[in-house]
Amino acid sequence: MKSPKTARKMWIAAGITLGALIIVSGLIVQPSLIRRVPFTLPEASLDTWEAILSNPRPISVRTFSTGTMKTDLSGILNLEHPAATDIEDTPVDLPVNVSIVRHAERGAYLVDGGLDASYVHNPFGTMRGLIVERFLGKGSQEPGQDTASLLDREQAAIQGVFLTHLHMDHTAGLVDLPKDIPYVVGENERYVNFRFIIQGDHLAGVPELQEIAFDKGVDLAPLGTAVDLFGDGSFWAIRSPGHSAGHVLYFVNGVEEQVLLTGDACNTLEQFSTGIGPGFYSSDVAQAQASMDRIIRFKNQHPQVALSFGHDQAMLR
Ligand SMILES: [Zn+2]
Repeated sequence: MKSPKTARKMWIAAGITLGALIIVSGLIVQPSLIRRVPFTLPEASLDTWEAILSNPRPISVRTFSTGTMKTDLSGILNLEHPAATDIEDTPVDLPVNVSIVRHAERGAYLVDGGLDASYVHNPFGTMRGLIVERFLGKGSQEPGQDTASLLDREQAAIQGVFLTHLHMDHTAGLVDLPKDIPYVVGENERYVNFRFIIQGDHLAGVPELQEIAFDKGVDLAPLGTAVDLFGDGSFWAIRSPGHSAGHVLYFVNGVEEQVLLTGDACNTLEQFSTGIGPGFYSSDVAQAQASMDRIIRFKNQHPQVALSFGHDQAMLR
């Protein structure tokens, strides 16, 4: 048995360790303090896929690569999946996409932030910290390929930015964009920097994030709860947690083409074809698999809808 004196020393040591841990994590973990306000939701105009798909609107979307990111296959593809036993982990180069949505009356909007121009000279862009070089994917980019240059070239005076989620390869390009437009994310989507360890501050200067609340959404099975962003059935956000807690898909209900932007709920065409869900970059691998399974079911039910993936230049039409 320990003497009371030893026991007391152990308690004191444990208390000091715990206190130090709390102080250190308080210094390092830097959740974004950016103000969150609700995205103002119009009444949904329609509430079934059949009604939506038979009422396309004057809206279009084009997807562009803003550079590439070298990463491990296991980050984007769950190699623990039973269908992945023959697949080896290997570095892959993935395009980092953004999409420009154009609505006849409302103008142009951007989906996701892509990469900023710093990736031409620096594989880590504006990311910095002790573990950045060791653990972060290496970006590369042609001059003029970045998001701001793309918007100039496409003469897209964007009225706002809709984000599938807030991982760094989707927020880097925001540093060069205007700050006086709405920035919209799904509810529960966090943006965290780890001071000294890994940080980017991509939201600097953005005054607030508008959060889409899905509790007033309509159930668009098999994909899930959806909200009619413009109130005319043209542009929808659909809840798809798993890759991140607040991940969102966007559906563009165009006359020319109806397109589902999958973000990282389905990274590539190959991922879709194999049915193997997202890998270790996911906040919840099982939930990410379930979200991707719903995309596959949706495409089977509505083959006329094209899929545009978060990290692929190939679309599935
Ligand atoms: Zn991504």
